[in-house]
Amino acid sequence: DAEVNAYRRQLEVRVAGFEPPRPIQTFGQCGFDHTLLGAIKRAGYEKPTPIQAQALPAVLSGRDVLALAKTGSGKTAGFVLPLLVHVLDQPEPGKGEGPIALVLAPTRELAEQIHKEARRFAKPYALRVCAAFGGLSKFEQVKELKAGTEAAVATPGRMMDLVRMKACTLGRVTYVVLDEADRMLDMGFEQQVRSLLGQVQPDRQTLLFSATMPKKVEGLVADVLSNPVHISVGQLGA
Ligand code: ADP
Ligand code: MG
Repeated sequence: DAEVNAYRRQLEVRVAGFEPPRPIQTFGQCGFDHTLLGAIKRAGYEKPTPIQAQALPAVLSGRDVLALAKTGSGKTAGFVLPLLVHVLDQPEPGKGEGPIALVLAPTRELAEQIHKEARRFAKPYALRVCAAFGGLSKFEQVKELKAGTEAAVATPGRMMDLVRMKACTLGRVTYVVLDEADRMLDMGFEQQVRSLLGQVQPDRQTLLFSATMPKKVEGLVADVLSNPVHISVGQLGA
């Protein structure tokens, strides 16, 4: 309706796809529990950024989402907060069971930032978020993964290694995030990303975040997202 359209214009948010949900104005409209709302407040997040305002309700509704917004726009919380809701809804993984949520990012630095953000919001729930990227002990990663973990934040190369070593299976994954998909493809990780997704059940929820939308990303979107809500904020590069 007109009110929703006006609010989207104000946020500079554009949406496409089948019946996109209404954007939210406050975190209180997300249906988060007191624990998570408290953690959001402690993080100093007073209201959702434009990408969060539209992506949070779309992701929380269980839809696949393509979200395009420039660096620094708050994309991480857009997939981390619903990730927690998603894993809290499921029985906790036991020993030898793989993660429920998998986040892939192109570099160790980016994966590290996501891991930090995820840990911060997971902490009050004692959820386990495993880091699977270079620069950390692979031995420790294998141990953590084998003990059972709700979520893994990984670079594609390290995740492939760990899967090959049978330190981790992806059979329980139902929530996948491809963050900075444009950079991930630029860096030559397309085959690894596709191979990892091939090991995840097809009825998963898949989210793809990117700052730009080059042809290669369009191809990936067409192949790995199903009936997605497309969201973009502001003016984007090609
Ligand atoms: P992106 O992934 O789009 O580059 P980030 O998720 O890294 O952006 O967020 C950029 C910065 O904004 C981070 O320091 C993060 O803590 C902060 N941030 C995220 N969401 C909010 C919010 N709703 N209010 C205030 N700051 C936020
Ligand atoms: Mg980011």
